[in-house]
Amino acid sequence: MEDNNHNSTSTSAMSSASELPEPDVQILTSGGVCIPAHSSILAMVSPVLDNIMERPIKHGSSERVIPILGVPCDAVTAFIKYLYNSMCTEEQMEKYGIHLLVLSHVYLVPQLKQRCSRGVSQRLTVENVVDVLQLARLCDAPDLYLKCLKQVTARFKAVEQTEGWKFMQEHDPWLELHILRFMDEAESRKKRRWRQRKEQRLYLQLSDGLECLEHICREGCTTVGPYDVETAKKPSPCDKYSTCQGVQMLIKHLVLCKRRASGVGCCRCNRMWQLLRLHSSICDHPDSCRAIQMESTTENGGGCEVEAACEEGLLGQSYVVAVSPQEKERGGAEGNNGQNC
Ligand SMILES: [Zn+2]
Ligand SMILES: [Zn+2]
Ligand SMILES: [Zn+2]
Repeated sequence: MEDNNHNSTSTSAMSSASELPEPDVQILTSGGVCIPAHSSILAMVSPVLDNIMERPIKHGSSERVIPILGVPCDAVTAFIKYLYNSMCTEEQMEKYGIHLLVLSHVYLVPQLKQRCSRGVSQRLTVENVVDVLQLARLCDAPDLYLKCLKQVTARFKAVEQTEGWKFMQEHDPWLELHILRFMDEAESRKKRRWRQRKEQRLYLQLSDGLECLEHICREGCTTVGPYDVETAKKPSPCDKYSTCQGVQMLIKHLVLCKRRASGVGCCRCNRMWQLLRLHSSICDHPDSCRAIQMESTTENGGGCEVEAACEEGLLGQSYVVAVSPQEKERGGAEGNNGQNC
Protein backbone atom coordinates (compact mmCIF):
# COMPACT_ATOMS: atom_id res chain seq x y z
CA MET A 1 0.00 0.00 0.00
CA GLU A 2 2.70 2.41 1.10
CA ASP A 3 4.74 1.32 -1.89
CA ASN A 4 1.93 2.31 -4.23
CA ASN A 5 1.65 5.70 -2.56
CA HIS A 6 5.27 6.41 -3.15
CA ASN A 7 5.11 5.22 -6.72
CA SER A 8 2.14 7.44 -7.46
CA THR A 9 3.74 10.48 -5.80
CA SER A 10 6.96 10.16 -7.69
CA THR A 11 5.20 9.35 -10.94
CA SER A 12 3.13 12.51 -10.61
CA ALA A 13 6.32 14.42 -10.02
CA MET A 14 7.77 13.02 -13.18
CA SER A 15 4.61 13.49 -15.22
CA SER A 16 5.24 17.24 -15.30
CA ALA A 17 8.26 16.61 -17.46
CA SER A 18 7.10 15.94 -21.00
CA GLU A 19 7.52 12.60 -22.71
CA LEU A 20 9.91 10.93 -20.36
CA PRO A 21 11.05 7.40 -21.11
CA GLU A 22 10.41 4.57 -18.65
CA PRO A 23 12.15 5.04 -15.29
CA ASP A 24 15.54 3.38 -15.35
CA VAL A 25 16.63 3.77 -11.75
CA GLN A 26 15.15 2.95 -8.36
CA ILE A 27 15.75 5.06 -5.26
CA LEU A 28 15.73 2.81 -2.22
CA THR A 29 14.60 4.55 0.99
CA SER A 30 15.09 3.56 4.62
CA GLY A 31 11.59 2.06 4.86
CA GLY A 32 12.48 -0.41 2.09
CA VAL A 33 10.35 1.61 -0.33
CA CYS A 34 11.62 2.04 -3.89
CA ILE A 35 10.95 5.23 -5.86
CA PRO A 36 11.31 4.89 -9.65
CA ALA A 37 13.19 7.70 -11.32
CA HIS A 38 15.06 8.75 -14.46
CA SER A 39 18.83 8.70 -14.32
CA SER A 40 19.10 11.53 -16.86
CA ILE A 41 17.04 13.91 -14.69
CA LEU A 42 18.85 13.01 -11.47
CA ALA A 43 22.24 13.36 -13.15
CA MET A 44 21.32 16.73 -14.61
CA VAL A 45 20.44 18.29 -11.23
CA SER A 46 22.82 16.54 -8.84
CA PRO A 47 26.51 16.07 -9.72
CA VAL A 48 26.78 13.48 -6.95
CA LEU A 49 23.97 11.36 -8.41
CA ASP A 50 25.56 11.88 -11.82
CA ASN A 51 28.74 10.43 -10.48
CA ILE A 52 26.90 7.44 -9.01
CA MET A 53 25.12 6.89 -12.31
CA GLU A 54 28.40 6.59 -14.13
CA ARG A 55 29.52 3.65 -12.05
CA PRO A 56 28.85 0.24 -13.56
CA ILE A 57 25.69 -1.56 -12.38
CA LYS A 58 26.40 -4.37 -9.96
CA HIS A 59 26.75 -7.73 -11.59
CA GLY A 60 23.45 -9.58 -11.78
CA SER A 61 21.15 -6.55 -11.50
CA SER A 62 19.16 -5.35 -14.44
CA GLU A 63 18.25 -1.96 -12.96
CA ARG A 64 20.30 0.52 -10.99
CA VAL A 65 19.28 0.95 -7.33
CA ILE A 66 20.47 3.99 -5.41
CA PRO A 67 19.96 3.82 -1.66
CA ILE A 68 19.12 7.10 0.10
CA LEU A 69 18.86 6.03 3.70
CA GLY A 70 18.80 7.69 7.12
CA VAL A 71 15.93 10.07 6.44
CA PRO A 72 12.16 9.37 6.27
CA CYS A 73 10.80 7.92 2.99
CA ASP A 74 8.59 10.95 2.44
CA ALA A 75 11.57 13.26 2.76
CA VAL A 76 13.31 11.30 0.00
CA THR A 77 10.16 11.51 -2.13
CA ALA A 78 10.06 15.28 -1.63
CA PHE A 79 13.74 15.43 -2.55
CA ILE A 80 13.30 13.43 -5.77
CA LYS A 81 10.27 15.55 -6.67
CA TYR A 82 12.38 18.66 -6.23
CA LEU A 83 14.96 17.24 -8.63
CA TYR A 84 12.19 16.96 -11.25
CA ASN A 85 10.29 20.22 -10.80
CA SER A 86 12.47 22.49 -8.60
CA MET A 87 9.54 22.95 -6.28
CA CYS A 88 9.12 22.39 -2.59
CA THR A 89 5.87 23.16 -0.79
CA GLU A 90 5.59 24.90 2.57
CA GLU A 91 4.13 21.71 3.99
CA GLN A 92 7.16 19.70 2.84
CA MET A 93 9.43 22.37 4.30
CA GLU A 94 7.53 22.26 7.57
CA LYS A 95 7.77 18.47 7.82
CA TYR A 96 11.11 17.67 6.19
CA GLY A 97 13.03 20.96 6.04
CA ILE A 98 16.06 19.68 7.97
CA HIS A 99 16.11 16.35 6.05
CA LEU A 100 15.94 18.18 2.73
CA LEU A 101 18.76 20.42 3.93
CA VAL A 102 20.93 17.37 4.59
CA LEU A 103 20.00 15.75 1.26
CA SER A 104 20.63 18.95 -0.70
CA HIS A 105 24.04 19.21 0.96
CA VAL A 106 25.01 15.57 0.42
CA TYR A 107 23.82 15.48 -3.22
CA LEU A 108 25.00 19.01 -4.04
CA VAL A 109 21.76 20.73 -4.97
CA PRO A 110 22.54 24.37 -4.08
CA GLN A 111 19.12 25.91 -4.94
CA LEU A 112 17.33 23.46 -2.65
CA LYS A 113 19.94 24.02 0.03
CA GLN A 114 19.33 27.76 -0.09
CA ARG A 115 15.58 27.25 0.03
CA CYS A 116 15.95 24.92 3.05
CA SER A 117 18.32 27.31 4.82
CA ARG A 118 15.70 30.00 4.52
CA GLY A 119 12.75 27.72 5.31
CA VAL A 120 14.37 26.16 8.37
CA SER A 121 15.57 29.51 9.71
CA GLN A 122 11.98 30.77 9.60
CA ARG A 123 10.93 27.84 11.75
CA LEU A 124 13.52 28.07 14.51
CA THR A 125 12.26 27.54 18.04
CA VAL A 126 13.89 27.51 21.47
CA GLU A 127 13.60 23.74 21.41
CA ASN A 128 15.20 23.05 18.02
CA VAL A 129 17.69 25.88 17.63
CA VAL A 130 20.71 24.05 19.07
CA ASP A 131 20.10 20.95 16.92
CA VAL A 132 19.62 23.07 13.80
CA LEU A 133 22.78 25.00 14.64
CA GLN A 134 24.80 21.80 14.75
CA LEU A 135 23.22 20.60 11.54
CA ALA A 136 23.89 23.93 9.83
CA ARG A 137 27.55 23.59 10.79
CA LEU A 138 27.74 20.04 9.46
CA CYS A 139 25.97 20.98 6.25
CA ASP A 140 28.06 24.09 5.78
CA ALA A 141 25.06 26.45 5.72
CA PRO A 142 26.57 29.71 7.05
CA ASP A 143 23.39 31.83 6.80
CA LEU A 144 21.40 29.35 8.82
CA TYR A 145 24.27 28.89 11.27
CA LEU A 146 24.46 32.63 11.92
CA LYS A 147 20.72 32.88 12.32
CA CYS A 148 20.85 30.10 14.93
CA LEU A 149 23.68 31.83 16.79
CA LYS A 150 21.64 35.02 16.91
CA GLN A 151 18.57 33.15 18.15
CA VAL A 152 20.59 31.42 20.88
CA THR A 153 22.01 34.80 21.91
CA ALA A 154 18.60 36.47 21.97
CA ARG A 155 16.89 33.71 23.95
CA PHE A 156 19.76 32.21 25.87
CA LYS A 157 17.99 31.89 29.24
CA ALA A 158 15.37 29.61 27.68
CA VAL A 159 17.76 27.82 25.29
CA GLU A 160 20.15 26.74 28.05
CA GLN A 161 17.29 24.88 29.72
CA THR A 162 16.65 22.68 26.66
CA GLU A 163 17.77 19.10 26.21
CA GLY A 164 19.52 20.11 23.01
CA TRP A 165 21.78 22.57 24.81
CA LYS A 166 22.58 20.14 27.63
CA PHE A 167 23.43 17.40 25.13
CA MET A 168 25.65 19.73 23.12
CA GLN A 169 27.38 20.93 26.31
CA GLU A 170 28.22 17.36 27.17
CA HIS A 171 29.30 16.19 23.73
CA ASP A 172 30.68 19.24 21.98
CA PRO A 173 32.33 21.63 24.48
CA TRP A 174 34.16 23.38 21.63
CA LEU A 175 30.90 24.36 20.03
CA GLU A 176 29.62 25.60 23.38
CA LEU A 177 32.75 27.73 23.73
CA HIS A 178 32.27 29.07 20.22
CA ILE A 179 28.65 30.02 20.95
CA LEU A 180 29.56 31.70 24.24
CA ARG A 181 32.30 33.66 22.51
CA PHE A 182 29.88 34.77 19.82
CA MET A 183 27.46 35.94 22.52
CA ASP A 184 30.25 37.88 24.22
CA GLU A 185 31.17 39.62 20.99
CA ALA A 186 27.51 40.32 20.24
CA GLU A 187 27.22 42.01 23.64
CA SER A 188 30.28 44.18 22.95
CA ARG A 189 28.93 45.03 19.50
CA LYS A 190 25.64 46.04 21.07
CA LYS A 191 27.41 48.27 23.61
CA ARG A 192 29.52 49.83 20.87
CA ARG A 193 26.45 50.55 18.77
CA TRP A 194 24.65 51.98 21.79
CA ARG A 195 27.62 54.28 22.52
CA GLN A 196 27.75 55.39 18.89
CA ARG A 197 24.04 56.12 18.88
CA LYS A 198 24.36 58.07 22.11
CA GLU A 199 27.21 60.11 20.67
CA GLN A 200 25.22 60.70 17.53
CA ARG A 201 22.20 61.85 19.55
CA LEU A 202 24.39 64.17 21.58
CA TYR A 203 25.95 65.55 18.42
CA LEU A 204 22.52 66.15 16.93
CA GLN A 205 21.30 67.85 20.10
CA LEU A 206 24.37 70.08 20.13
CA SER A 207 23.99 70.91 16.49
CA ASP A 208 20.29 71.75 17.03
CA GLY A 209 21.23 73.80 20.10
CA LEU A 210 23.79 75.77 18.11
CA GLU A 211 21.31 76.36 15.32
CA CYS A 212 18.73 77.63 17.81
CA LEU A 213 21.27 79.87 19.53
CA GLU A 214 22.11 81.52 16.24
CA HIS A 215 18.44 81.92 15.36
CA ILE A 216 17.67 83.47 18.77
CA CYS A 217 20.60 85.92 18.45
CA ARG A 218 19.71 86.79 14.87
CA GLU A 219 15.94 87.24 14.88
CA GLY A 220 14.72 86.17 18.30
CA CYS A 221 12.12 83.59 19.11
CA THR A 222 9.09 83.47 21.38
CA THR A 223 10.49 85.07 24.55
CA VAL A 224 14.15 85.88 23.94
CA GLY A 225 15.69 87.95 21.20
CA PRO A 226 18.14 90.72 20.39
CA TYR A 227 17.41 94.22 21.73
CA ASP A 228 16.68 95.66 18.30
CA VAL A 229 14.05 93.07 17.42
CA GLU A 230 10.69 93.21 19.14
CA THR A 231 10.24 89.66 20.40
CA ALA A 232 6.59 90.24 21.20
CA LYS A 233 5.96 90.49 17.48
CA LYS A 234 7.37 87.01 16.97
CA PRO A 235 5.35 84.89 19.36
CA SER A 236 5.04 81.84 17.14
CA PRO A 237 7.43 79.03 18.01
CA CYS A 238 10.05 78.03 15.44
CA ASP A 239 10.16 74.54 13.96
CA LYS A 240 12.82 73.39 16.44
CA TYR A 241 10.92 74.79 19.37
CA SER A 242 11.52 71.88 21.76
CA THR A 243 15.25 72.65 21.60
CA CYS A 244 14.83 76.38 21.10
CA GLN A 245 12.71 76.69 24.24
CA GLY A 246 15.45 74.97 26.25
CA VAL A 247 18.10 77.33 24.87
CA GLN A 248 15.87 80.33 25.61
CA MET A 249 15.45 79.17 29.19
CA LEU A 250 19.20 78.72 29.53
CA ILE A 251 19.81 82.24 28.19
CA LYS A 252 17.28 83.70 30.59
CA HIS A 253 18.84 81.76 33.37
CA LEU A 254 22.33 82.93 32.44
CA VAL A 255 21.27 86.56 32.41
CA LEU A 256 19.43 86.40 35.70
CA CYS A 257 21.35 83.79 37.68
CA LYS A 258 22.13 85.05 41.19
CA ARG A 259 24.62 82.27 41.83
CA ARG A 260 26.66 83.33 38.82
CA ALA A 261 26.38 87.02 39.76
CA SER A 262 27.69 86.31 43.23
CA GLY A 263 30.56 84.27 41.79
CA VAL A 264 29.28 80.86 42.95
CA GLY A 265 29.54 78.07 40.37
CA CYS A 266 26.31 77.13 38.60
CA CYS A 267 25.97 74.17 36.29
CA ARG A 268 23.11 75.59 34.23
CA CYS A 269 25.21 78.65 33.50
CA ASN A 270 28.12 76.36 32.67
CA ARG A 271 25.97 74.46 30.23
CA MET A 272 25.03 77.67 28.46
CA TRP A 273 28.66 78.79 28.37
CA GLN A 274 29.63 75.47 26.84
CA LEU A 275 27.14 76.10 24.04
CA LEU A 276 28.39 79.68 23.61
CA ARG A 277 32.04 78.56 23.52
CA LEU A 278 31.24 75.86 21.04
CA HIS A 279 29.52 78.45 18.89
CA SER A 280 32.43 80.88 19.09
CA SER A 281 34.83 78.12 18.01
CA ILE A 282 32.94 77.73 14.73
CA CYS A 283 31.45 81.21 14.28
CA ASP A 284 32.13 82.67 10.84
CA HIS A 285 31.33 86.30 11.75
CA PRO A 286 33.02 86.75 15.17
CA ASP A 287 33.32 90.54 14.92
CA SER A 288 29.60 91.19 14.82
CA CYS A 289 28.40 88.02 16.50
CA ARG A 290 25.91 88.61 19.27
CA ALA A 291 26.39 85.16 20.77
CA ILE A 292 30.10 85.88 21.21
CA GLN A 293 29.29 89.23 22.81
CA MET A 294 26.87 87.49 25.16
CA GLU A 295 29.54 84.96 26.09
CA SER A 296 32.19 87.53 26.94
CA THR A 297 29.77 89.85 28.78
CA THR A 298 28.32 87.22 31.05
CA GLU A 299 31.62 85.45 31.64
CA ASN A 300 33.27 88.66 32.78
CA GLY A 301 30.89 89.03 35.72
CA GLY A 302 28.32 91.20 34.03
CA GLY A 303 25.53 89.75 36.10
CA CYS A 304 24.41 92.77 38.12
CA GLU A 305 24.44 95.10 35.17
CA VAL A 306 22.34 92.67 33.21
CA GLU A 307 19.82 92.50 35.96
CA ALA A 308 19.75 96.25 36.26
CA ALA A 309 19.22 96.51 32.58
CA CYS A 310 16.34 94.13 32.89
CA GLU A 311 14.71 96.21 35.59
CA GLU A 312 15.03 99.41 33.69
CA GLY A 313 13.95 97.85 30.45
CA LEU A 314 17.11 99.18 28.83
CA LEU A 315 17.76 95.95 27.16
CA GLY A 316 20.55 95.41 24.84
CA GLN A 317 22.64 98.51 24.57
CA SER A 318 25.54 96.48 25.76
CA TYR A 319 23.85 93.11 26.11
CA VAL A 320 22.75 91.77 22.85
CA VAL A 321 20.39 89.12 24.02
CA ALA A 322 17.83 90.29 26.46
CA VAL A 323 15.04 89.04 28.63
CA SER A 324 11.92 91.16 28.68
CA PRO A 325 10.99 92.70 32.06
CA GLN A 326 7.83 90.55 32.28
CA GLU A 327 9.99 87.47 31.94
CA LYS A 328 12.31 88.65 34.65
CA GLU A 329 10.35 87.25 37.53
CA ARG A 330 9.95 83.80 36.04
CA GLY A 331 13.53 83.81 34.81
CA GLY A 332 14.71 85.02 38.20
CA ALA A 333 13.01 82.09 39.84
CA GLU A 334 14.76 79.78 37.38
CA GLY A 335 17.98 81.58 38.20
CA ASN A 336 17.61 80.67 41.83
CA ASN A 337 17.17 77.06 40.94
CA GLY A 338 20.77 76.85 39.88
CA GLN A 339 21.56 74.33 42.58
CA ASN A 340 18.94 71.93 41.29
CA CYS A 341 20.63 71.34 37.98
ZN1 LIG B 1 13.11 79.34 18.10
ZN1 LIG C 1 23.23 79.90 36.85
ZN1 LIG D 1 28.45 83.74 15.78
